[in-house]
Amino acid sequence: MSTFQELGVIPEIQQAIVELGFEQPMPVQTEVIPQLLANTRDIIALAQTGTGKTAAFGIPIIQKINIKQLSPQTLILCPTRELCLQIAGDLTDYSTYVDDIKILPVYGGSSIESQIRTLKRGVHIIVATPGRLIDLIKRKTVSLADVHTVVLDEADEMLNMGFSENIDEILSYLPEERSMLLFSATMPKEIEKITRKYMKNPMEITIGRKNEGAQNVRHLYFMVHAKDKYLALKRIVDYYPNIYGIIFCRTRKETQEIADKLLQDGYDADSLHGDLSQAQRDLVMAKFRNHNLQLLVATDVAARGLDVDDVTHILNYGLPDDFEVYTHRSGRTGRAGKTGTSISIIHTKEKGKIAQIEKLINKQFEKREIPKGDVICEKQLFNFVDKIEKVKVNEAEIALLLPSIFRKLEWLEKEDIIKRIVSLEFNRLIEYYQQAEEIEEPQEYLSRRGRDESRTKRGERQENGSRKAEKGYARLFINVGKMDNVNPATLMGFINDNVKGKVPIGRIDLLKSFSFFEVPEEVANKVVNSFRGMYIEDRKLIVQWAQEAEKSGNWKAKPEFAGKKQKNKKRY
Ligand code: AMP
Repeated sequence: MSTFQELGVIPEIQQAIVELGFEQPMPVQTEVIPQLLANTRDIIALAQTGTGKTAAFGIPIIQKINIKQLSPQTLILCPTRELCLQIAGDLTDYSTYVDDIKILPVYGGSSIESQIRTLKRGVHIIVATPGRLIDLIKRKTVSLADVHTVVLDEADEMLNMGFSENIDEILSYLPEERSMLLFSATMPKEIEKITRKYMKNPMEITIGRKNEGAQNVRHLYFMVHAKDKYLALKRIVDYYPNIYGIIFCRTRKETQEIADKLLQDGYDADSLHGDLSQAQRDLVMAKFRNHNLQLLVATDVAARGLDVDDVTHILNYGLPDDFEVYTHRSGRTGRAGKTGTSISIIHTKEKGKIAQIEKLINKQFEKREIPKGDVICEKQLFNFVDKIEKVKVNEAEIALLLPSIFRKLEWLEKEDIIKRIVSLEFNRLIEYYQQAEEIEEPQEYLSRRGRDESRTKRGERQENGSRKAEKGYARLFINVGKMDNVNPATLMGFINDNVKGKVPIGRIDLLKSFSFFEVPEEVANKVVNSFRGMYIEDRKLIVQWAQEAEKSGNWKAKPEFAGKKQKNKKRY
């Protein structure tokens, strides 16, 4: 493994980063720093936050600045004000021992006049959100003519936030000859378009595998009825007494409601969403960052700028529609070499999404049962006892009070004292869980329950689904049936959950171990393809044209039907 010195980092920066605790370069730094210092090629880096990417581009950028030339030489574009401030702060840290370097964060929501004044005095590096930078360019208060390096950080987020046109415009003001670096956690098509349009023969670096969530994140899911979601959330939070987590909700309203309920129920929680003022959001984020808040309930958009390394759990209060959002959420834990857990509380209809996310992140989810009351109490108790064992006793502070305390408790045995301490802390929790009804697990959508008992051997199947499809419709086979607890409604829901766009479904024939359903001919292949590679629990899902199912032996028509088939060639 190389050192920062071997990568070509100058002693002034080495000194600053050693003081920050950087002992060895992280993989993205080993790859990017020498390339950027040598100015050889444009770079696309697929790297999540937490991989050390800011230093990967920040260190060489600082080193390449010509201090004597007081004009913007590097431009860093990023999606949010918080990230903007953080990057500028990190760059300032790396350049502690580089004299006179001027770094300016430029972002919306703060005084443009003061940014203009600083620009007039001259800066070397601009870290900007796209909207505000365009504003400044239009006012002719900033010139990008001397920029030799441009970085797009969290490029996928910038596109998600609708900055695509702004980025196009900004890039058009830059000189032809400049290096470009693009950092993105995912590589959607739109990013590929940008790289094709603006980058020359770029080098592609992948830290972790493409479109894969962080390696050290476990993905769990709990399935509940929609009505039990909040109760399940409470139980999960109770089950992890030392949780320091972010709960993601889908809407601002839901975010506020969940935060309010948690607060009311005695949890250390607060909300972060777009209906709050910037000052309120800053306050909540600071509280969370400083660990003065255990649970942050947030929308995806509001949490974008939040950068915290030691989040232990991400809780998905329902799954996002856009699965890449899941990658971003879960990437907020398991950072800087730590392990993390991403937990999803879902209802039955979301089960199909799990399989799709698994494909995207290339990792399996583990299904868990909602913890029972007694298990939660035991976990909390032992955590408390553990704390008693480990607490640092400040002898000097309590010395004066101890004699009278000992005297007061003299009449109690050690066991009694322990019982009382524990009761004091836990009576409420124990009572709550004694009275609370256990959360019933929904019968799983397309569950395999009972499958083994009733399974018939291939070729001995009793049922037969031979019939001709309605005109204009195609008849499709699916290898789930009544013994999987499928009914027409669940089957329709399942198909529509997994196929993009609304699919009109015609006749459905449910048989014991497989079924047939009809869809318009023109969408039949789309439906078949949507289920390709999908698994329900351990079983591969098969959806094919009925004719193919018969050919491949997945289903056999009964002889009398097979006979008819001979006569009527059009059938299947
Ligand atoms: P980033 O991906 O830039 O958000 O960085 C994630 C975290 O890793 C930040 O807290 C950095 O300060 C820290 N970090 C970056 N590079 C190193 C390094 N070489 N050694 C230790 N920590 C680092």
